[in-house]
Amino acid sequence: MDFGGTEKVSGSVELSLNINGLALRLRTPEGWIATPPLPERTGLDEAPMPARDLVERDRKRYHCLLFKPVWLVETARGCPFRCNFCSVWQLYGRSFRERSIAAVVDDFASVGDCVFVADDLFWHHPARSLELAEALKKRGIRKRWLLVQTRTDIVCRSPQLLEAWRPIAKDFDIFFGLEAASDDALLTTVLGADAAAKLDLFDRAQLACVLRVCRTSVTQSEAGRRLFAITRKKRKVTNDADRLQKYLTRFGLNWAACTAQTISG
Ligand code: SF4
Repeated sequence: MDFGGTEKVSGSVELSLNINGLALRLRTPEGWIATPPLPERTGLDEAPMPARDLVERDRKRYHCLLFKPVWLVETARGCPFRCNFCSVWQLYGRSFRERSIAAVVDDFASVGDCVFVADDLFWHHPARSLELAEALKKRGIRKRWLLVQTRTDIVCRSPQLLEAWRPIAKDFDIFFGLEAASDDALLTTVLGADAAAKLDLFDRAQLACVLRVCRTSVTQSEAGRRLFAITRKKRKVTNDADRLQKYLTRFGLNWAACTAQTISG
């Protein structure tokens, strides 16, 4: 297939494939096809606002949980984590882009009372999220209902996000996803039931703790820094990632194996 020209799709339809960054489902012998990736991802503020007027006549039919009509607002797109059940990181290559605070505030002001925030990972940057909450309050924006999707570890590490955002809606729902609700379930998820059952209590406790840190860190180096926070200060060379890998190797694990199913939102 020549991505520089046109592709005959079906019958007399021809499509120009000179546009980079497209994945297309076309009736071709190859099935799914993709054009070369964009050199860099488009900033969200460069994308046009949704043409909501085009769906206004159907607005009353947009509903979620108990609420309708519902509006969709996006403040950021993508996610740096890579939970194995999730398509987001594959779709956006683990990138994370944010709209400017001013653009988001304008968008919130322009939509109705019930808002589903479409971000794949809300509150990823706590400082920016606190700034956004303040800007919304300053503009006098308060909604009947807000729904966001995020991770439990983000909220646990930055509980002030809940305080800052709670006043912005009368009802505030959060979607969290949990794939393992106990250390035993986490070990079984990562190692498999047979290998997990062969661990001593000592190893179970230690490995579960290490896995929790790995699965809530974006990189192996970040996990290493958190795990060796005290002893790394005494070392001339802080090879945190290497130290972590040596520990994981004892259990036949590597970084990819222990983070591919991150506890996620
Ligand atoms: S944290 Fe959420 S959005 Fe990110 S990869 Fe996991 S499930 Fe997907």
